[in-house]
Amino acid sequence: MYLKSLEVQGFKSFANKIVFKFHNGITGIVGPNGSGKSNVGDAVRWVLGEQSAKQLRGASMQDVIFSGTENRKPLGFASVAITLDNSDHQLPVEYQEVTVTRRVYRSGESEYLINGAACRLKDVNELFYDTGIGKEGYSIIGQGQIEKILSGKPEERRELFDEAAGIVKFKRRKATAQKKLEDEKQNLVRVNDILSELT
Ligand code: ATP
Repeated sequence: MYLKSLEVQGFKSFANKIVFKFHNGITGIVGPNGSGKSNVGDAVRWVLGEQSAKQLRGASMQDVIFSGTENRKPLGFASVAITLDNSDHQLPVEYQEVTVTRRVYRSGESEYLINGAACRLKDVNELFYDTGIGKEGYSIIGQGQIEKILSGKPEERRELFDEAAGIVKFKRRKATAQKKLEDEKQNLVRVNDILSELT
């Protein structure tokens, strides 16, 4: 699996639609200060479901939408689509290529799509569990992150190893099953209460 392309429109400094094509191997992005290099990384984080405006160096989520320049009006929406080669089927879907799209409008509406089909953030998160790619994954190493990992608590470091070992999805499923079990136990207590009132 590898990153094939990134299509950005209306996201931060990228008002026009622009497509970054990546090939197998190393790609470097160079440019003058403030030209938008880090915005490319922000676009990758954002399309993978980042929910924290701070992580994207903004104050609110609407800050990702192109806010205009002297010569250009602000835009009403931001859209990013990431395409990954999945010919080795590391992602648990049958497609050879997977495109995840995220859009947000100034009105606050937002949407996610997987290969053109509308989906939930949860579906995007589940698609990337245990691949290292999700927004919590280790495939995006931001400034200061290495230091954070080295000086982090053992539990925080453990999350990284869980992701690499491929057991995150099982832990999430276990937590969901335990929550259901707990809810059912509560229901049973209520049923027993009602029964004892009736008898
Ligand atoms: P440096 O080399 O200094 O780290 P950089 O090339 O990484 O810079 P970025 O931080 O990616 O640059 O981009 C900063 C630019 O993006 C600034 O010019 C800023 O005005 C612009 N920018 C950020 N958000 C928006 C937005 N919502 N609308 C328009 N422009 C934006």
